[in-house]
Amino acid sequence: MVVHKRPDRTLGHGNDTFWAWCDRQELRLPRCTGCHTLAWPIEAACTTCGGEGFAWERLSGRGAIASWCTFERDYYQGQFPMPWDCILVELEEGPLFIANPAGMTGQGMRLGLPVRLAFLGCEDEAGPFNLPVFETDERADRPARSHPTEELIP
Ligand SMILES: [Zn+2]
Repeated sequence: MVVHKRPDRTLGHGNDTFWAWCDRQELRLPRCTGCHTLAWPIEAACTTCGGEGFAWERLSGRGAIASWCTFERDYYQGQFPMPWDCILVELEEGPLFIANPAGMTGQGMRLGLPVRLAFLGCEDEAGPFNLPVFETDERADRPARSHPTEELIP
């Protein structure tokens, strides 16, 4: 199996739990037990109600491209093959999730493109881990979703 070198992940409070679920091939995000908001990115307390209780909820892994960009400057001193693509996925459950695309490049991107979760075997200074990435969901039997800001335009 090819292991991809990556810059160091954020570890510590909450993040360790996130990565432990990824190691089990599951994308889980903390849902506030007080107001039931999915709390992403990880914070010590819910940014909606201030509660500190969370339950880790498994997500469908389905979503749609909300934005993307291609980095052509080597910000990580050779830790990524250049250029590298970054996508913003609107998860089916609501949160926006920054990730890398798998099997597609900037040329194949479009707003609302259905994507599904996959895991990429990676390694950083802390050791091996599964990185959540997204690939085109050609089996999607639903209409492509539009970018959330477009829905605000009357
Ligand atoms: Zn809350």
